[in-house]
Amino acid sequence: LTGFLVSGNRLYMVEFTQLAAAYSKVNLGQGFPDFAPPKFVQEAFCHALNEGPMMHQYTRAFGHVPLVKSLAKFFSRVIGHEIDPLEDILVTVGAYQALFSAFQALINEGDEVIIVEPFFDCYQPMVKMAGGQPVYIPLRPVSDGSVLSSGDWVLSPEELASKFTPRTKALVINTPNNPLGKVYKTEELQMIADLCIKHDVLVISDEVYEWLTYDGAKHVKIASLPGMWERTITIGSGGKTFSATGWKVGWAISSGHIIKHMKTIHQNTVYHCATPAQEAVARGFEREYEVFGTPESYFQQLPAMLHHKKNKLASLLKSVGLKPIMPEGGYFMTADFSSINCDDPSSKDEAKDFRFVKWLIKEKGLATIPVSAFYSPEHGKEFDKYIRFCFVKEEATLDAAAEILKKWS
Ligand code: PMP
Ligand code: GLN
Repeated sequence: LTGFLVSGNRLYMVEFTQLAAAYSKVNLGQGFPDFAPPKFVQEAFCHALNEGPMMHQYTRAFGHVPLVKSLAKFFSRVIGHEIDPLEDILVTVGAYQALFSAFQALINEGDEVIIVEPFFDCYQPMVKMAGGQPVYIPLRPVSDGSVLSSGDWVLSPEELASKFTPRTKALVINTPNNPLGKVYKTEELQMIADLCIKHDVLVISDEVYEWLTYDGAKHVKIASLPGMWERTITIGSGGKTFSATGWKVGWAISSGHIIKHMKTIHQNTVYHCATPAQEAVARGFEREYEVFGTPESYFQQLPAMLHHKKNKLASLLKSVGLKPIMPEGGYFMTADFSSINCDDPSSKDEAKDFRFVKWLIKEKGLATIPVSAFYSPEHGKEFDKYIRFCFVKEEATLDAAAEILKKWS
């Protein structure tokens, strides 16, 4: 049998997660917290399980009503647009399924989709599965050698403008970005928005790390810019929001005329996401609505905790000669390993960063992810001197990573 649309794709996250399970003592690879979600959402989940028989049954296909209501209430305030809970929101099985439903519903055979690199690795196969053609544009460091922060990685407005054609249907951005941690500034988003309005293009904005920003960086929703609500699908994740990635509750928020097409995909594939998990996320947002902007808010507490972990990891990496790029957001840090001279001679046909990551897992027991996995094959080679570390980890995990790195240096 031949002709499968995505049969040639490698599933990097799956491959490296398997390697990590087999060899690593310390896993700073896949992005998930190794600590518990906050008490208030754990209690909300337990409460939901004991709330009566209906909490164990099907709920509304497009989103449990308490959840869409709490999301609408919360995000209307953030976006500055009155969100209709029943028309403008689709609850999905994680942000993954929101992305999948968006591509399936909105991309037709031959449509072009502009993807900003580095990108979360499922965008490319999802675009292809929908029959679309990915068109890539890399963020580039402003000047090589002195790159200190993810903010130094930028899009060239001229290069971006050159990617639009009459076939361009959508553009995908991810802010804060996985893996770089870039948080797009308003001016950068405005430049993207202007081009999308000019060419009548949709924006799929993956904002799963929206609450995680550091050192004064501010997350801005592209949907909140003038003229963008009607053409933006904003994607979020309960798993990332409340440190409960296994719950797999995600959502897409957009104008009802866009969401209705995604609903068709959703109701004919997945139907709905687990009821008690939706109830727990709803209660989490209700609570956050009340304490928003105060030190009690988890959306302040989690970034404050991660700020310390980020700095700890950065000093650690520097102490062994790696050159970290300080993330402005998210829970990953990329680092340049070119000054380190270690290699796995068995696999010279693979990219440098893939070889380095395999060596680090197998020989040192430390799992990370190669950054060229977040690039198209045509651009991966330019960026194969970086690896990604996840820092949403217990102090003990980071200390164990420190032990490995100290022994190695
Ligand atoms: N987008 C990005 C940028 C991610 O890093 C991830 C990984 N969690 C997802 C989407 C998927 O999120 P979820 O676990 O809610 O499906
Ligand atoms: N988003 C997480 C990461 O980038 C996990 C996703 C996955 O394992 N597929 O590591």
